[in-house]
Amino acid sequence: MKLSIRFFAAAVAVLAFNFTMEGRPKNADAPFWTEKPDTATFTKRQEDRLAKVRAAVERLTAVKGKRTVENTLAVYDEVLTYLDAASREAGLMQEVHPDKTYRAQAEKLSQEISAYATELSLNRAVYDALVAIDLTGADAETRFYVEKTLLAFRLAGVDKDEETRKKIKALQDELVLVGQEFARNIRDDKRKVTVENVAELEGLPQDYIDNHKPGPDGKIVLTTDYPDYIPVITYAKNEDLRKRMYMAYNNRAFPQNIAVLDRLAAKRYEVANLLGFKTWADYATADKMIKSAKNASDFITRIVDASKDRAAREYQELLDRKRKDVPDATAVNRWENAYYAEILRKEKYAFDSQKLRPYLTYDRVKQGVLDVSSKLFGVTFKRVENAPVWHPSVELWEMFENDKMIGRFYLDMHPREGKYNHAAEFTIHTGIAGKQIPEATLVCNLPGGTAGDPGLMEYDDVVTFFHEFGHLLHEMFAGHRKWIGVSGISTEWDFVEAPSQMLEEWTRDAKTLQSFARHYKTNEPVPAEMVAQMNRANDFGKGLAVRQQMAYARLSLSIYDREPSKVNTDVLVKQIYTDYSPFPYVEGTHMQTAFGHLDGYSAIYYTYMWSLVLAKDLFSNFDRADLLSPKISMRYRKAVLEQGGSKPAEKLVEDFLGRKTSFEAYQKWLNESSTGNE
Ligand SMILES: [Zn+2]
Repeated sequence: MKLSIRFFAAAVAVLAFNFTMEGRPKNADAPFWTEKPDTATFTKRQEDRLAKVRAAVERLTAVKGKRTVENTLAVYDEVLTYLDAASREAGLMQEVHPDKTYRAQAEKLSQEISAYATELSLNRAVYDALVAIDLTGADAETRFYVEKTLLAFRLAGVDKDEETRKKIKALQDELVLVGQEFARNIRDDKRKVTVENVAELEGLPQDYIDNHKPGPDGKIVLTTDYPDYIPVITYAKNEDLRKRMYMAYNNRAFPQNIAVLDRLAAKRYEVANLLGFKTWADYATADKMIKSAKNASDFITRIVDASKDRAAREYQELLDRKRKDVPDATAVNRWENAYYAEILRKEKYAFDSQKLRPYLTYDRVKQGVLDVSSKLFGVTFKRVENAPVWHPSVELWEMFENDKMIGRFYLDMHPREGKYNHAAEFTIHTGIAGKQIPEATLVCNLPGGTAGDPGLMEYDDVVTFFHEFGHLLHEMFAGHRKWIGVSGISTEWDFVEAPSQMLEEWTRDAKTLQSFARHYKTNEPVPAEMVAQMNRANDFGKGLAVRQQMAYARLSLSIYDREPSKVNTDVLVKQIYTDYSPFPYVEGTHMQTAFGHLDGYSAIYYTYMWSLVLAKDLFSNFDRADLLSPKISMRYRKAVLEQGGSKPAEKLVEDFLGRKTSFEAYQKWLNESSTGNE
């Protein structure tokens, strides 16, 4: 998921207020893009919000006499509500608006809003006011909100002397600019690989060849966007083409982001020091489930050890298979991994992923995601026709429970020039019970969306869709707390990938897939046997994939857990890849320059695996034989998703499981080989 600007590094939850609040935008219930604002209107809208924020902060600090939940916390929640809307809207537009000038203006607004959020996080008067609230008689959720908020303020440095706070403020403002530069360089550096003639595309699916017609000079231009890149790296027989693609992909935003990344690490280190932490990694883990950089490091090592045998075995299988083509081969190269894994899946596990694709057209998968969510969570979805959207390919949907609309979301699912090129869920407005409904969007780069193209998806695309929709459902169900500060996805950050990764489990279930995956020509549902074969085949590579994830996690931690003068990211990548992965390191690649999470997640990429351990544990409570039954999923919705950030995440998991969390389900998953019916 995309964590847009977090107020205060530690993610202050946001607010809630009495909605007799003055200055509420008229039409507050309308979709945020209703007026299709031009840059001037959009800018004014966010600046008006900032003005309201400032006015509310003044009101809050001016209170005389006893501090109460009503006269202080409610006003603070109002502040957060305006800030949330402003920062999220600007954060989204800088990544998706089709017009470059608009994106640039949205970036500027993001800077202004972040600057204010940082100022607020260091505002001693606001902090003192919150400390002074009389919580006698307040409910547990309100108390937890205050506790969490005060911690966030302290982690932001509010209790430091004025001189220190000034320095922190200046550094945080600079960090916003550096982070934007990092993301912009990735977004704007779409690389192209030229193919001499169609013969070079041998092995690629026919629809891919049809969608990539040669130009007047007979040459075909491919890009590093996922729908171009993934099929080449998986299917192309031409090794040189795969290698060229791999090199282009792993040089995006190089060399410009090398220096940008160094600046990010250096400035964050300074911030951490000023805040009394030894390193940024110590700081970034302090308010997470994992609690410390040391624990994060131990966790990575534990997973690396747990996956050792499996990864070695799988690599040997790849090498053995390669030797049938290249008898004297001594290694499998990184651009050969997906290719030989695909061949093994076909030969050894009798699964051909290209035979599955005709069952996975974009439209059917989309309908499938919606229908499965309906069954599991008791809601229905309705598309809003002729809705105001920022690009004609974007759709607006509403989510209903009985007759009540409880969420609204956009689907921006296909690539285009200048658009965010990964997959993420973006919050637009965090929901608040009785005050504003949750609004969010998925931003993905999936096949389809052009007339005449059925949009045949890879299985992994289906997994991505379910994953991102898992975040979206979390956002929708969690967006009904009374305070914005504990509403929406506001749990500890290292929990947020659990609901999304758990929803991926449904893509391995034959009954679930058969409910939507039908052949686009014959309308036959996908055969159960094909799904079983796929599950067996997809088990192959699990150990190697876990190792790759741990390489990312270690890289993310290592950039931030030491003095920046000791960090050379090229050296680190090479070292970690060599330690954790059996594939030889490829000289001349610089994956770190396009690894956007090094800004967004900074030191804490481990959260994906940490969340996966929790997701496996949560999933162990479901009935695998009857995954579409709402019985357990509704209990999960109530115990976990709807709670938002109103309790510590560990407690949410325990409430659902009825016991302490455990590593067991994850370990079992890592060791087991699928029977094909999981
Ligand atoms: Zn995610």
